[in-house]
Formats: sequence, C-alpha cells, structure tokens
Amino acid sequence: MPAAAPFSWIRPEPWGIHVVPADCWLDPSRAVDHALVTHGHADHARGGHGRTVATPETLAIMELRYRTGAEDDAGQIPHKAVPVEYGETIRLPGGVDATYIPAGHVLGSAQILLEHAGERVVVTGDYKRRADPTCAPFEVAPCDIFITEATFGLPVFCHPPIEEEMAKLLERLAAHPDRCVLVGAYALGKAQRVIAELRAVGHRQPIYLHGAMEKMCRLYEEHGIDLGELRLVSDHTKEEMRGHVVISPPGALNDRWSRRLPEPVTAMASGWMRVRQRARQRNVELPLVISDHADWGELTRTIEEVDAQENWITHGREDALLRWCQLHQRRARALALVGYEDEDD
Ligand SMILES: [Zn+2]
Ligand SMILES: [Zn+2]
Repeated sequence: MPAAAPFSWIRPEPWGIHVVPADCWLDPSRAVDHALVTHGHADHARGGHGRTVATPETLAIMELRYRTGAEDDAGQIPHKAVPVEYGETIRLPGGVDATYIPAGHVLGSAQILLEHAGERVVVTGDYKRRADPTCAPFEVAPCDIFITEATFGLPVFCHPPIEEEMAKLLERLAAHPDRCVLVGAYALGKAQRVIAELRAVGHRQPIYLHGAMEKMCRLYEEHGIDLGELRLVSDHTKEEMRGHVVISPPGALNDRWSRRLPEPVTAMASGWMRVRQRARQRNVELPLVISDHADWGELTRTIEEVDAQENWITHGREDALLRWCQLHQRRARALALVGYEDEDD
C-alpha cells in the first residue's frame, strides 16, 4: 500500500479544520460530534458539540456561555467535556496526538499541536505575543505546518505599548473628577485585561461594571486572576461613580443604559481603534488601542520563529501576510474558513 500523501490527514473545510483520522474538528463554526476548541470566544467556541476537548478554563467559559453541562429531558448530560491542561498530550482516535500550548490571547486560550505519522501541525487559534496579566504567555512550538490567524494582518497595525494606553485613560480620569470614564470592552478577555492592567499601574480605586460583565469577571477571579474591588453600576448612584472607571460591553456605550452614569467620557479598548473611522462610528472620544491579537510585527516575527515548512493563513486579512511570506521565500496559502468575526479584537 502506498504511503498517504503528506499532511492529507489535516484538511481545511469552510466550517473548520478537519482532522481526518480522528474525525474531529478544530474550532468548527457548526455543531459537530467531536470538537477541539482553542478558546472561549464565540467565533471559535460554539455550543452544541457532542464532545469538546479544551483547557479547563475554556470549558468553564463554554459552560458559562452555553450551559454545556446542562441535563437534557432524560436527566443526562449529552455534552462530554474533556479537559486538557497546558503541556498535556491526549491521544485522539486514528493515532493523532493533540497537545495544548498557551496562546496568550485570553484566559485558557491554547494553540493546538497535532501530531500524526511523524508530521506536526500547529493551529494558533487567536494569539498575541504581548504580556497579559490575565493569561499564560504564548509559546513558540516548532512544526511542519503553521496555521496562523491574521486578524491584524496589515503593516499599518502596530499596537502601542499598553502602558501608554493606560496612561491616557488615567490622565483623562484625573482631568475630569466630576465625570467617569466609560470603557467599552469585550466581556471575555478585554474587560479583564483592562482591569488587570489598571491594577498593574497602581490604580486601586473600585472599578464599576455593567451587569453583563460580572459573571465573566467572577470566572477569571475563580481562576486566580486578581481584579481588585469591582462594583456593579446598578448598586450605586451617579454621585459615587464620579471620578471612576466604568467598564461595559461595546454595545452599551451609546445605549440608554449609559444615562445612569455621571457624564461619561466614552472610551473603547480595541485593536480597531487604530482606525479613526471605527472610533468615530462608535462616538468614541478616547480610543484605546488595546488588542488581544498579534499585530503585524508579531505575526511576521512568529512565522519566522516557528519556521514551518508551510504557513496556512486564516481568520482575517490573509492577503498581505501571504504576500509577505512569498517575499520572504516562505511557502504559504490562505484558507477560506467561514464564520469568524471579531468578537474578540
Ligand atoms: Zn477569533
Ligand atoms: Zn479570540
């Protein structure tokens, strides 16, 4: 029998990457029997799978969001959660080994290393290289095929040091002691990172939360991330919130909800705040360029460090990164996966 073609066991399909011998899917955008999930953002982790292999933190996030541990009418729990710690390898059907490696993106986020027939494939999921007090740092994993995200895959994207963005926020806060600074931030990852970074630069004041952020912040705290004193906006008066930071989901920035706040200075924490038009669209007075994704420099440096035979580019602006690979004599192709949005920029 002739040997199988190299890497024929890993196949990109529109709704996810198929690991053929194990018949399982990576971050599938539709419900499948057997899923390997890199992290808890909605465009990677979906409900409805039969079995999900992920880090304990990601499984906890999925349980919170999708009640994956809920019983059905017959009193059974139809979903099987399979936890894998960082550095741990599990054997999948068909002789495929999967190892979960920190991706530095959000709590519990992992790259997945797949090994089969002596071939190594790494799927990054979303990742960044900057330090983040709320999650384990990215690790470079040598491999034959490197499947990388490309959310900020344009040279214009160069995220500033987070200390600069924190200083801007605190300056604005100090300049308006009678107002508050309302920061729009995604509920999973960005909100907790902004809080933890404020604590890291010595901001000890209570931070006020929109009700929609509370459960995820508590989940982070249960996993050992110290967020300091958090208060719910709904439990406090306008007077009490003057001179404080308030965190809400981006959708609440221009919402009626914000009328209960003392003349908020509207801020938003996102990698897209680099694009002025995006800030204007959301009526953001104080754009904070804070991203949980690799910027252009991080993407290209990582491709060099991983030094794979081949790079598969997905999940964002594939074209410029593809071109960069070609210019640097690196084999690359763009994958056409569907269903990835920026919940998590
Ligand atoms: Zn994503
Ligand atoms: Zn993500």
